[in-house]
Amino acid sequence: PKVLRLILGDQLNMNHFWFEKTDESVTYLMMEMRQETDYVIHHIQKVVGFFLAMRTFSQTLQKKGHRVRYFSLDHPENRQNLKNQLEELIQKEGFTRFEYQLPDEYRLDQILKEVCESLPIPSSAVDTEHFLTSREFLKDFFKGKKTYLMETFYREMRRKYDILMDGKDPLTGQWNYDHDNRQALKDKKLLKKPLIHPKRVKEILEMIEKAEVKTIGKIDPEQFTWPVSREESLEILEYFCEQLLPNFGAYQDALTTWDPYLFHSRLSFSLNTKMLSPLEVVQTVEKYWYAHQNQISIAQVEGFIRQIIGWREYMRGIYWAKMPEFAQMNFFGHDRKLPDWFWTGNTKMNCLKESIGQSLDLAYAHHIQRLMVTGNFALLAGIHPDEVDQWYLGIYIDAIEWVEITNTRGMSQFADGGIVGTKPYVSSANYIKKQGNYCDHCAYDSAKKTGHGSCPFNSLYWHFYARNREKLEKNPRIGMMYRTWDKMGNQQEVLGQAEYYLKSLENL
Ligand code: FAD
Ligand code: SF4
Repeated sequence: PKVLRLILGDQLNMNHFWFEKTDESVTYLMMEMRQETDYVIHHIQKVVGFFLAMRTFSQTLQKKGHRVRYFSLDHPENRQNLKNQLEELIQKEGFTRFEYQLPDEYRLDQILKEVCESLPIPSSAVDTEHFLTSREFLKDFFKGKKTYLMETFYREMRRKYDILMDGKDPLTGQWNYDHDNRQALKDKKLLKKPLIHPKRVKEILEMIEKAEVKTIGKIDPEQFTWPVSREESLEILEYFCEQLLPNFGAYQDALTTWDPYLFHSRLSFSLNTKMLSPLEVVQTVEKYWYAHQNQISIAQVEGFIRQIIGWREYMRGIYWAKMPEFAQMNFFGHDRKLPDWFWTGNTKMNCLKESIGQSLDLAYAHHIQRLMVTGNFALLAGIHPDEVDQWYLGIYIDAIEWVEITNTRGMSQFADGGIVGTKPYVSSANYIKKQGNYCDHCAYDSAKKTGHGSCPFNSLYWHFYARNREKLEKNPRIGMMYRTWDKMGNQQEVLGQAEYYLKSLENL
């Protein structure tokens, strides 16, 4: 037999059973292709990051004695899409069997199913051996339930994998420490420098430019900072435990101009490309915490573990339970265009200028910047979820549809009408001011709702509630808002201010 096995760019799991032993009859196929660089406009660092990580993976496989066919983007025999490449290789080189790992994206899942049907040889798919649950687990777990509560799912994961547990009960008797984990950062001195692995990326950059791949964002050709191998990813994990974990939970929701990463791990790219597995990440962190319990409170470690075995795994389950319909959902019927300054950071609103500017510079923003600054604004301003999705899918180094769309369309835009979240994540300037120092350096006044210089978040916030009253009023978690609104004296003025801002979104 002559077997061809496909490895996609986000399937860099060196511990997969495929690679346990070498086999002369097996050829691994990896490709940099236009099909993947062009389905959305990506950040340049994202394209470089994926290609470098793929190249590193291919070299490691070859060093271990595996046979690999690697097509760089500029390879003369690169057909630039999966279907043509597979058909050509199979025909030319006489493979007798085709195998692949189940993709995490609906789009690629469809493509592969179709390709396999038309191939002249038998094909089969295996699991990626990455996630804690199968594609269908969440759907089956919540069978018959209208809402898929993350907290219920998360507790099940804690029990199933025995993480921070004391027998059947959570360690210390408490499942959730969110309440302790919402502080603003007051002391600059607590901050640590991120661990980076600087690399020169001039050649690969030239190749991408020569191919005229359209990209956004900036890159320093002398100093690319993301991890592109399992070894580098493990170093980042270790650095996280030693330096960042002690403050992770406490400042998880902080917003500040002082530092782009705060105490966040920067592990999403390593996880989403599968250079690291979620279980090894949480087990490493848990183990480190057990050894340092007297220095690190449980709130820090629980906050981190919840993100990975809770949110991340839950989002994947939602994706497979709700796609492809999920990608069309638009609960509020929003239809505005994203203002152009989302691609330049050129706005007077300091929170957005900082969060967008940082995203363009680093292909990174932390969760609260994504959710409560850019996402919050897009929702209040009534931007079409397709526009919002395209932006998030392009700009972040970790953006792959299964985790991007569930976070964006679901958690952030509430376009799913409440599958992911029980109420929309919206706020006025109050929240942004409370969480950090963005408002201290802003052209707008966070305390003003109306009039010249009033913060747009304030009037847009009430406009959002007022225009969506019918859809939201019955939600028991929101009813209170309408009682406050009804008592507000200057409703017309507030709505008028919001209308004015909505008409001049480009100039805010
Ligand atoms: P940390 O804060 O250190 O968290 C640790 C890990 O937990 C992350 O690496 C990630 O794997 C996981 N995690 C945390 N929150 C979430 C979440 N809500 N959903 C899934 N996993 C989570 N994450 C992506 O990986 N890809 C995306 O495309 C993406 N798009 C997002 C879009 C929006 C609108 C929002 C609000 C969030 C999005 N997230 C996405 C989730 C989260 O913001 C990022 O995972 C996180 O900022 C990555 O940085 P970090 O590794 O330093 O995270
Ligand atoms: Fe953002 Fe408003 Fe604060 Fe300015 S005043 S930083 S626009 S929340």
